[in-house]
Amino acid sequence: SLAGKHDIFKSLNKAQCRAVSSEAPTVAILAGPGSGKTHTLTSRVVWLIDHVGIQPQDIIVATFTNKASNEMKARIGHALRDGREKSIIIGTFHSIARRYLAKYGQRIGLDPKFGIADDSDSRGIITRICKRSDTPLEPPVARAWISKRKAKGTSDERTIKDKKGQSVESQALERCFQEYQSQLERSNLLDYDDLLVRCVELLRKFPQCVSNIQTVLIDEYQDTNGIQYDLMKLFAQKSRRVTIVGDPDQSIYGWRSAEIKNLHRLLRDYPGTDEISLEENYRSSSCILDTSLKVIQQDQERYKKVLLPVRDKGTRPVLRKLKSSTDEADWIVSEIKRIRLLSGNMIDFDDFAILLRSAALSRHIESTLGREGIAYRMVGGFKFYERTEIKILLDYMRVIHQPDNNDALARIINVPKRGIGEVTIKALLEEAEKTSISLWQLLDRHFRGQRRAKTNIRQQTENAISGSLMKPLNNLREKVRQDAAVGTPMNLIDLVQKLIRDLKFEVYLEATYGDEYESRWANVQEFVTLAEEFMRQNQVDDEALPTIDGFAQASDDDILAKFLSNVTLASDKQTEDKDQEGKPLVTISTIHAAKGLEWPVVFIPAVYNGSIPHIRADDQNEERRLLYVAMTRAKALLYLSCPQNIASGGGKPAELSAFIDLLPSSTFLPKGPSFDRPVMSSVAKILGRELPPDNVIYKGIPSMTAPEDNLFPVDPNKPFNSHTDGVTQDIWPRKRQKTQHPIKSVQ
Ligand code: ATP
Ligand code: MG
Repeated sequence: SLAGKHDIFKSLNKAQCRAVSSEAPTVAILAGPGSGKTHTLTSRVVWLIDHVGIQPQDIIVATFTNKASNEMKARIGHALRDGREKSIIIGTFHSIARRYLAKYGQRIGLDPKFGIADDSDSRGIITRICKRSDTPLEPPVARAWISKRKAKGTSDERTIKDKKGQSVESQALERCFQEYQSQLERSNLLDYDDLLVRCVELLRKFPQCVSNIQTVLIDEYQDTNGIQYDLMKLFAQKSRRVTIVGDPDQSIYGWRSAEIKNLHRLLRDYPGTDEISLEENYRSSSCILDTSLKVIQQDQERYKKVLLPVRDKGTRPVLRKLKSSTDEADWIVSEIKRIRLLSGNMIDFDDFAILLRSAALSRHIESTLGREGIAYRMVGGFKFYERTEIKILLDYMRVIHQPDNNDALARIINVPKRGIGEVTIKALLEEAEKTSISLWQLLDRHFRGQRRAKTNIRQQTENAISGSLMKPLNNLREKVRQDAAVGTPMNLIDLVQKLIRDLKFEVYLEATYGDEYESRWANVQEFVTLAEEFMRQNQVDDEALPTIDGFAQASDDDILAKFLSNVTLASDKQTEDKDQEGKPLVTISTIHAAKGLEWPVVFIPAVYNGSIPHIRADDQNEERRLLYVAMTRAKALLYLSCPQNIASGGGKPAELSAFIDLLPSSTFLPKGPSFDRPVMSSVAKILGRELPPDNVIYKGIPSMTAPEDNLFPVDPNKPFNSHTDGVTQDIWPRKRQKTQHPIKSVQ
């Protein structure tokens, strides 16, 4: 049998085995959360390399986040044991597209030194264009319109053109779009959508670039958009071999033009697709799975599928209402500490995740964790790279790399303060635009004294710019040039450190931020560490694409370019599960960024109407799916909570999320000592871990149950008969379920 010959099959069920070794050209796995889709996809890659004999560099794997691709690479590496996984072309669609454009972009007229405009860059440019427009345009609307237009993919181009010119507004939007594109071009920038659009263009014109590709695999397929679908087809244009895995119930990127209809397209474009479903959930306790399913089943129109629990029953989720967001944060952190103690450290800090609908909710939790000295990491939405002090450094590096980047230059021109006001900056930009040169070229002229006859810039401004901006920047650019000239790879760390010194950045931060200076300076140091890590990683793992014989291509991009695009494409700063001192970290993440991941214990705070479903969301079903994604991240314990009053709403009362309010109160654990010793043994079983004996745990732990919670006292020392026929029963006997709805009983 297969299992005898290959280790990978040992951890797979029958349907998974079939999917891994399917010989059909196209395989589609549609299945619920925790059913092992990602696990199966990873195993299939190993199978294709080890058994079918496909070369790793001929495989493309697209994942949804950078974190997911790193994890997948590590898993594949673990199975192959010979380092071949390094050659697999694995990453997000954007990062794969970037690699192809860096290597072959010149063929379609791209300057190989192109930079990437991140979200805030695009926002800035569009806002400026909208302000100038005769027809009033809301910048966010314009931005969404432009992005949608690009993301639709080329197959929809005709429909867009047909609609064009219908209204004054759509004409204005079209003009805004054109202006935006030409500004990006002038600065040699591609935005996120452009990376995909231009890569499609490249692969249409030069299919040779992907002539080696034997197979394409895609995780989280439900969240691909039209242009990503085009890209997938182009990657697979020669081999026509595609494997996709996904779950329509977890489609949460409709706002970014993800399209469920890509599933139908796939079945139409690739006839004979082997459709496989996986029906067992290996992740969550059956109580958690049941509750999650009850939520998603509120959606009447969804495509129904089977998802059966494999794990023990476990214990019902906890639902708590607390006085305020501060109380909510306090409660979460005290539960984390309590569970950790109660489990005798069987559950440690890195087993906990706090999942938030929006990044703005993290403030209270961060400060409480900080106060308690519990280390944590932030994932998604809380972008490290968007912190002001880091953005400044990055902008300087962008200008060093690519001086014609007007936006980056305009942002740093007066940072640190050089006495150049907004008005002057605007005048400079306008002057540059009028003379059709970049801002840098304009400044450079002034700096070199080749002043044109008439200029608006006052002498003072000129001195400021030349002395404190142009000089250090020119020095650094000179350094980069010298490094390149003698053929030594640039030392990124030297560059960053020199930049920090030249700018007197520490002094600047101290002067600007006072009390907050220390944490800002710590971020700067973290940034240096990051550059170090990047250098190190780059030596080991060169992201080079395979070389296609007889097809001229650019040499691989320099390290500064790679670093900058990596930073821009990273959805978050990626930290290990342990901090530098080796302490395990609690995770705080947005729900969006938690997709595909799992933790033993999950907290979902702020489940009130307005937060989830979000007040500005227009698709209620998508909001419900978002909650479903969050809940299905939990393996053993799930906590939902909500404050009585919305802090940001000036103390307005919070209403429990409709998605949760619809559930029968028996779904949740009745009010009482939330989780206790008997629960711990069921948790241990679900996680496959060993619970330290009682006497070790209870030594020195104070009673954890608050008196007001003590409705149904459980003697922690009394053995609890929780196992019947190998199934852990819900810890609350039936007759106790008649309590009031817990959330309503807390005033
Ligand atoms: P999601 O939809 O949330 O991305 P998924 O379908 O990709 O979920 P995985 O993350 O691949 O699910 O798997 C969930 C968990 O189940 C993982 O911890 C995985 O190791 C485990 N698992 C998957 N298949 C099996 C199996 N056959 N036996 C035991 N454990 C399994
Ligand atoms: Mg997955």
